[in-house]
Amino acid sequence: MYYKTKDEIELIRESSLLVGKTLAEVAKVIKPGMTTLSLDKVAFEFIMDSKAVPAFLNYNGFPNSLCISVNAQVVHGIPGKYELKDGDIVSVDCGVVKNEFFGDSAYTFAIGEVKEEVLQLLRITKESLYKGIEMAVVGKRIGDVASAVQTLAEANGYGVVRELVGHGIGRNLHESPEVPNYGKRGSGLKLQEGLVIAIEPMINMGTKGVKHESDGWTIVTADKMPSAHFEHTVAVGKEKADILSSFEDIEKALGREF
Ligand code: MG
Ligand code: MG
Repeated sequence: MYYKTKDEIELIRESSLLVGKTLAEVAKVIKPGMTTLSLDKVAFEFIMDSKAVPAFLNYNGFPNSLCISVNAQVVHGIPGKYELKDGDIVSVDCGVVKNEFFGDSAYTFAIGEVKEEVLQLLRITKESLYKGIEMAVVGKRIGDVASAVQTLAEANGYGVVRELVGHGIGRNLHESPEVPNYGKRGSGLKLQEGLVIAIEPMINMGTKGVKHESDGWTIVTADKMPSAHFEHTVAVGKEKADILSSFEDIEKALGREF
């Protein structure tokens, strides 16, 4: 486990805020008719203009700067020719590295008129992220974060993805510990100051099962029902978690939450 100094946390904050600004650039242009590849181009250029590097590009061979996952796609979707349409939900995950430190955050967008039950999935998934973040304080454990996410999601009848988890973050995109979205209160690693983690609930409207698509990257729900994904990079705090990324610019650009 690598515990960060205050200075290092500030560098992770800078990278994480840049991710939020990049997602806000996406928010400004996302609309029906756009291809997911055109969104990726917006992000790539903004990150390069900001003197940073897209963290996902070439990561284990991933071909783009954003992971874009539409409707039943859970995470790790590859940007391409798909044109967004009214009623879609689109999870956009972004990472950057700047000054040798990574930031990682994700937001799920609603395109045009989205069914109320699907909007509710987005609301609850985002709320479950903040429930998890509330537990990212000194003395709590990873299981407290995990259980807080799981409890809210399952109370709403949703499936919590097991196969993919949050993670430590810093000089690497993925560091230990793993931060699952399911687990037992009071279990797992005890949280200390200096620990920086990405908390990222992936919540399915239907059952928890997922499978790999044949492109080798995209994860989809087994029952083909929609899935949502929200992620913040967070530093464990003494009394309160310090959220290093931000949705503020995204939601300002959208002019609304769901
Ligand atoms: Mg991410
Ligand atoms: Mg992540």
